[in-house]
Amino acid sequence: MKRLLSILLCAVMLVVTVPTMVFAADTTVEVSNGMAFRSDTTQDAIDQWAAGAATIQENSDGSFTVTLQKNITLKQGATSPITFGNFQDGKTQPAMILDLNGCTVSAKTIVIANYGNLVIRDSQGTGKVVYDGGQYMTAVQNSGYSLTVQGGTFECVGADSVTYNAAINAAAGTETVIDGGTFNGNGAGALTTYGNVTINGGTFNGAYGVVSKKAGSGETGSITFPENSTAVIHADKMAFVVHGDGTNNGTIDVKGGSFDAPSIAGKLSSADPKTDITIAGGSYTADPSDYVAGETASIKHTSEQKTLYAVGGDVQALANTAKPGDTITVLSGNTITVPDRVTVENQTGNDISVNGETIEKDSAATVHKFDRTSWKSDKDSHWHECECGEKTDIAAHTWGDWTVTQQATETEKGEKKRTCSACGYEETAEIPVLAHTHKFGTEWKTDKDNHWHECVCGEKADIAAHAWGDWTVTQQATETEKGEKKHTCSVCGYEETAEIPVLTHTHKFDTAWKSDSENHWNECACGEKGNLAAHTMKWVVDREPTAAQTGSKHEECTVCGYQKAAVEIPVIGTTTPEEKPDSEKPADVPQTGDGSNMLVWIAAMMMAGTVLTGTALCARKGKHSR
Ligand SMILES: [Zn+2]
Ligand SMILES: [Zn+2]
Ligand SMILES: [Zn+2]
Ligand SMILES: [Zn+2]
Ligand SMILES: [Zn+2]
Ligand SMILES: [Zn+2]
Repeated sequence: MKRLLSILLCAVMLVVTVPTMVFAADTTVEVSNGMAFRSDTTQDAIDQWAAGAATIQENSDGSFTVTLQKNITLKQGATSPITFGNFQDGKTQPAMILDLNGCTVSAKTIVIANYGNLVIRDSQGTGKVVYDGGQYMTAVQNSGYSLTVQGGTFECVGADSVTYNAAINAAAGTETVIDGGTFNGNGAGALTTYGNVTINGGTFNGAYGVVSKKAGSGETGSITFPENSTAVIHADKMAFVVHGDGTNNGTIDVKGGSFDAPSIAGKLSSADPKTDITIAGGSYTADPSDYVAGETASIKHTSEQKTLYAVGGDVQALANTAKPGDTITVLSGNTITVPDRVTVENQTGNDISVNGETIEKDSAATVHKFDRTSWKSDKDSHWHECECGEKTDIAAHTWGDWTVTQQATETEKGEKKRTCSACGYEETAEIPVLAHTHKFGTEWKTDKDNHWHECVCGEKADIAAHAWGDWTVTQQATETEKGEKKHTCSVCGYEETAEIPVLTHTHKFDTAWKSDSENHWNECACGEKGNLAAHTMKWVVDREPTAAQTGSKHEECTVCGYQKAAVEIPVIGTTTPEEKPDSEKPADVPQTGDGSNMLVWIAAMMMAGTVLTGTALCARKGKHSR
């Protein structure tokens, strides 16, 4: 199995490396010495030096690009490097751009020297500049005005002197900017300078990181790692070296970058690293405290795996990588945030603020990371909470006044809310249905007896008996037909109607007499008889008798005029006394006044009584027979 893996690995490596090897093998040009590339360099001149090894072209901005097409090796014994620019043309001369284009240039002397304004890049990413002379030399020497390195690998092989060797070296009075690339100093430094160097990026490997020197002229190197530098230094001995006589020393100013070295800094001659080196940023594997100004923040992060330091703007980024259980030692500064459950030791000599909490000087605490930017809450209280669930600042809500959001009615519940002035928590609550308040309409409700005002719930108010006005007859009653009347309530207008009964009968007797043989009367339309009385008869002679002839007479009622049948009056001269009508007989009596006639009068009385009695019987009999 292991063997199979090895074979597979070899195969993979072959696939990866063969094209490069083929490329290198087929396209390496050996030259006995370097060549000067300047703005007036012709392609012919290049080809005469190393046929097909490079092209040159002018760019629209006036710069010239030299693009390598083959690997170039300066033969053993070569003494002059490949140069760019012309020192005599001054600092405003056109920039020369060297594109390694994936090719390797190597020499046992200085490989590339800049005399003007040079930019080195590597469009393929595999380009290299290799010095392997082992002496006090370098792969790239900046002796001109400006050098910018954007990419490529720069190697100083076999060197072991911090004093003279480096992958890249800059002379006094030069400006060098490193934006990228890999610089391998091996036993020497990755970069040395007598001039000004700004390192924005790149990887620097070697026994030493970067070296800032003092030139014989007295000029000193100045290396700056800006705040946002992405440079990474891996140094076997120390990251920084300064050189000088104690008065004029090279300086190094670090505001950013990552520095992996067992020691921060060393010196050559009489330089004083603690003075010449200023650290205000960056991250470190060694303690940079000696170079950090007192007010600048710095921390140590100790985890199971490793110990790291960070300064200034890199402090918080390093602190953020801590895991629960790690320790952050604060060496300087006063405020920091750390992840949850990190132990913070305060060695600043002052109280510090960690995650918003105070840690007193010379003490340590394991802190939570409470989110103090937002409150957590339940219905009763609010608090700040750590991601681990730990709570702090627990307090009851501080309620504002209730605000009604929905008014209650007599039929519907309402709603109100109030808000915590601290955390903004809102509580809503029901407003119960309102107690019923009767509202009596203005319209009267009525029944036959009363009127009242009524609420929608049915409750009655102002109930009172109708205040009747007078009856008004709307239909008169007769003795045969019912009538109708009505009266109205003066308050509510209610109308009541009532029947008027048929009128009682009042007899109206006709003035004309009705009669039968016995009686006479006045009669009503209903048949009732009034003034019923027996006839009061008197004789009426219709014709006086004579001696020769009989007369005629009849009885007639003096009231109603009823007449009985006529009877004969005998002729005069007969002995038969004339009978007188009954009614005339009493009338004769008082006129006599003569006692001699008393017997006659009594006899007549007796006769008349007999006749009267008989008449009354007859009259009663007649009445009954009708
Ligand atoms: Zn926590
Ligand atoms: Zn609250
Ligand atoms: Zn009501
Ligand atoms: Zn009424
Ligand atoms: Zn009548
Ligand atoms: Zn009569």
